[in-house]
Amino acid sequence: MTRFAQQLLDWFDQHGRKTLPWQTDKTPYRVWVSEIMLQQTQVATVIPYYEKFLDRFPSVDKLAMATEDEVLHLWTGLGYYARARNLHATAKKVMQEHNGEFPATVEELETLPGIGRSTAGAVIAICHGTYAAILDGNVKRVLARHFAIDGWPGKPHTLKLLWERAESLTPHDRTADYTQAIMDLGATVCTRSKPNCAVCPYLKSCSARKNDTIDLYPGKKPKKVMPVKSTVMLIAELNGNVLLQKRPSKGLWGGLWSFPECDSAEAIDSLLQSLNLEEQQRAIFPGFRHTFSHYHLDITPISITIRETNRIAEPAAEMWFNVTAPQSVGLTKPVTRILAEWPNPRTL
Ligand code: SF4
Repeated sequence: MTRFAQQLLDWFDQHGRKTLPWQTDKTPYRVWVSEIMLQQTQVATVIPYYEKFLDRFPSVDKLAMATEDEVLHLWTGLGYYARARNLHATAKKVMQEHNGEFPATVEELETLPGIGRSTAGAVIAICHGTYAAILDGNVKRVLARHFAIDGWPGKPHTLKLLWERAESLTPHDRTADYTQAIMDLGATVCTRSKPNCAVCPYLKSCSARKNDTIDLYPGKKPKKVMPVKSTVMLIAELNGNVLLQKRPSKGLWGGLWSFPECDSAEAIDSLLQSLNLEEQQRAIFPGFRHTFSHYHLDITPISITIRETNRIAEPAAEMWFNVTAPQSVGLTKPVTRILAEWPNPRTL
């Protein structure tokens, strides 16, 4: 075992977290769900979502049998919804193609939707205790700083160097503990901002700390100017219900429910017409910006009370969403935000 691994394990034995909800009963299903949730999301945020999710879907067969709406509903607020759709798709594959058992090799796990090399490595190392390396965001940060590995980890060359380090440092003994330990060190000590080097086991050996260059690692993604797009969202209200449409499974907000949209306030009349709805009263919400990873979206919500209608929502594609007794479906973030303030918009 390398000195790096031994120092980390000594630290973990004394200070590491060992009672997180996914650390107590380490089945592939539970560890896999936690790994997916922890991608791009911090532990403290994940815990309540994880507990609710496991409560509702305690095993892979229960998840496979759920509807996409139920899964997305429990994911509402966590963001990056492709993760939830992939989770659902993988559960179905595990049931249909692997007799309900998660494969026990990194290579096979990697063939499942949403499972990359690092997630597969974590499941194998933590659940089976066999050798497999991981390289999630926390590990990238620790390794990049400790060994002063230049460059943005999204660049193939930098990523290759990081994987080489991760693989050579992961021990064959106590692989499960080492895997938990390095993630934990990144999450609690070698944090993105203000790392607590004073309590770090690598206080003496870390290159970035010695050279006072911590802020340079990991290298930043080259900045692109984000384009700005705009949209108008129609909140068509009838007796306390608002009209929502289900987004196509693939693409932005795939499978989530959102308001009908048009390009501009001028186009709202033809949108109403196409939806076969008649306006009674109009009000406008203050606009706001929603930022995706690759562009900003400026949203203008227009709330319209519509006249009584016999119009029935088209099943599977539309619903009258009851704002006071909400149905269990996944909502887009702007819908959640607008409904939190609705129905008290600035009246025109
Ligand atoms: S010494 Fe500081 S920068 Fe280096 S690995 Fe430890 S916490 Fe991170």
